[in-house]
Amino acid sequence: MAVNKSYLRVAIPVPLYKVFDYLPPRERDGTAIQPGMRVKVSFGKGQKVGLVVGISDRTDVPRHKLKPVTEVLDEAPVLDSLLLELMLWAADYYACPPGEAVFNALPVLLRKSTPLTAALGALHRAQQCKRWKPAKQAQAGRETLSNAPAQARVLAYLLRHPAGAGSEELACLGEHWRRPLRELVKKKLVEEELVSVPGSEPQAVRMDTPHRLNPAQQRALEAILAGLDGYRAYLVFGDTGSGKTEVYFQAADAVLGRRRQVLILVPEIGLTPQLIRRFQRRFSNRLAVYHSGLSDQERLAAWQSARSGEANVILGTRSAVFLPLAAPGLVIVDEEHDLSYKQQDGFRYSARDIAIMRARRLQVPVVLGSATPSLESLYNVEAGKFTQLRIPHRVANASRPEIGLIDLRRKKLAEGLSSELFDAVAQEIGAGRQVLLFLNRRGFSPTLLCHDCGWTAQCARCDARLTFHAGSRQLRCHHCGAVRPLPAQCGECDSEALHHYGYGTERIESALQQRFPQTDIVRIDRDTTRRKDALQHKLELARQGKSQILIGTQMLAKGHHFPNVTLVGVIDSDHGLFGADFRAGERMAQLILQVAGRAGRAELPGRVLIQTHCPDHPLMQLLLTQDYQQIAVTLMSEREQAQLPPYHFMVMLRAESTAADSPLVFLEQARQLIELCRVPEVECYGPHPAPMEKRAGKYRAQLLLQSARRSSLYRSLRCWLPQLEQHRLARRVAWSIDVDPQEVI
Ligand code: ADP
Ligand code: ZN
Ligand code: ZN
Repeated sequence: MAVNKSYLRVAIPVPLYKVFDYLPPRERDGTAIQPGMRVKVSFGKGQKVGLVVGISDRTDVPRHKLKPVTEVLDEAPVLDSLLLELMLWAADYYACPPGEAVFNALPVLLRKSTPLTAALGALHRAQQCKRWKPAKQAQAGRETLSNAPAQARVLAYLLRHPAGAGSEELACLGEHWRRPLRELVKKKLVEEELVSVPGSEPQAVRMDTPHRLNPAQQRALEAILAGLDGYRAYLVFGDTGSGKTEVYFQAADAVLGRRRQVLILVPEIGLTPQLIRRFQRRFSNRLAVYHSGLSDQERLAAWQSARSGEANVILGTRSAVFLPLAAPGLVIVDEEHDLSYKQQDGFRYSARDIAIMRARRLQVPVVLGSATPSLESLYNVEAGKFTQLRIPHRVANASRPEIGLIDLRRKKLAEGLSSELFDAVAQEIGAGRQVLLFLNRRGFSPTLLCHDCGWTAQCARCDARLTFHAGSRQLRCHHCGAVRPLPAQCGECDSEALHHYGYGTERIESALQQRFPQTDIVRIDRDTTRRKDALQHKLELARQGKSQILIGTQMLAKGHHFPNVTLVGVIDSDHGLFGADFRAGERMAQLILQVAGRAGRAELPGRVLIQTHCPDHPLMQLLLTQDYQQIAVTLMSEREQAQLPPYHFMVMLRAESTAADSPLVFLEQARQLIELCRVPEVECYGPHPAPMEKRAGKYRAQLLLQSARRSSLYRSLRCWLPQLEQHRLARRVAWSIDVDPQEVI
């Protein structure tokens, strides 16, 4: 072992559970290098960009094998030390290779070797565009252009527009203006300038004024404000429409008043233009927005403005939890129960849980909010880790909707809809109000079935049936994206008697359109909102009340405010009662109460009708009370008895491969290895094939570790992982560890 030398510990984005030691570059003094700087290193046969995560005076690598880094890419750290430590903690917590985890904290443009100043410079230029103006001597120079008619034409145009013109205006001269313009610039008859792109400039918007809080909101706000000087976790538990967002806003105001920043996370689906505009109207132009719909450049811009402190309110989805903050003061996680906070591949982190840990390390408060909190968070309230702030009622004159069940047993249904639901819809739209129908399944029908032999159209790459999409006359797999034209005949017996079995949003839409031909219907699901701005457009139609019937999947269920909706119909809720996942009941209750929350959000009272074949199911009965607290208590005691989260902790090892047996064979070996490092309180279940064993051409299997103590799980993981990595079969399958898995199917 060599001593008294500086060695750089470098995280490299490769699927290996280690960091790599390098020497400082030959020509540079190692002391100028700090953790958080990027370096270029030779790795394997090529070069990679890595991040220095530590500097040490010792290494286990023999001296002759150590290589100097090829290049130091940054003058100063791009990741501050607190954030770097958080990323390393998270890599450890989620048992993720450190290089893969750490790079999640860098915008895509910085994962390459571009120096920060160059990336920011390019960004600045991208936000600018060129404009051209006639120079002082332009008028006089005109005469010299008699042999250059194209140049004369461009110059004449600019002389008519002395304030200047950009490429969009000049395009009206036809195709040939660029080259003559360049000549004119060379001759100094035209001046070129760079100006900000319209839209990249902060715009003046009409500002919203704060509401006067009601007593429950006021109590919640005061509790948060009392603890702004250190870490504390709050759970704001309040109905949909109870004014939670208003509480976040006023807490944010107080934090901004102390010249600190506020980071607000929202679920992917919640980041609609409507929500962004609501933030803009409160926080004006020092708002930065960060989500997956942005270009790499826009993300870098948001990253930089959070880092420099130019932005003081930072609103973003999952990965925004890693944004650098110049002066953090408060972290908010809205709809904390939402599944989209958990990344389901690669670095399988939960943004909610990382937000809590980040706030703790920053010593700032964190506020989680939901109308239907996760059982994990309610458990933390019970354990005294979170302070619960209850807002029991909806604001002002909006009251809770009434919920009723429609018993479908033995009823005649038309296209999946009962006559009660049809009648209720007719009544509402007849009175000029709006209806929202919810079905969490897109497409026309989930099954294409042969009436003669019982054949169904299956995906060749998944253990799943293909969904029929009537608009495009295609069969599509909702798991791997495969698309096939609609066959005219059965794949088995050539019969033409093909039936569409089951219902999707497309089918419900056409059924309603037939029944109510004069009514405007808008359907909102992933199929109708693929084009940019389509969602915004449709939501706007819905909000303005231009369409009387809204049909949609969970895209429609969450977060939106439709003041005119008085009836919400849940078309099929029963699959939630029989879900394979132990969280199915919790998810169903959350979803139904969230959808129900779309009804009667303004002055008009709301009503919710749920179609079910199981009206007596205890969960259905509980839903009728709309008392989520009570539902949660029931679900929690079931979990406690069954020794499931949040009472027990889980780690899942998943494996997949194109070879049918490999995942199970590998996991069988993994199971034997865990027996060797067996910690007594850890239970091991499996391996089992995944409930959908084949997906996108890969066979999948899983092995579950469970324990009442997290520390025991980690003790086994620490012993197990290196052995797994070394195992000869480990390279034959793609495997990954999922800590606190959210979907165990
Ligand atoms: P949540 O986030 O709990 O769904 P919001 O904060 O969006 O609730 O509030 C629902 C509606 O009520 C919004 O239109 C909001 O502007 C309004 N609102 C919130 N607080 C008040 C209040 N104290 N007085 C009047 N209206 C309010
Ligand atoms: Zn057939
Ligand atoms: Zn498929």
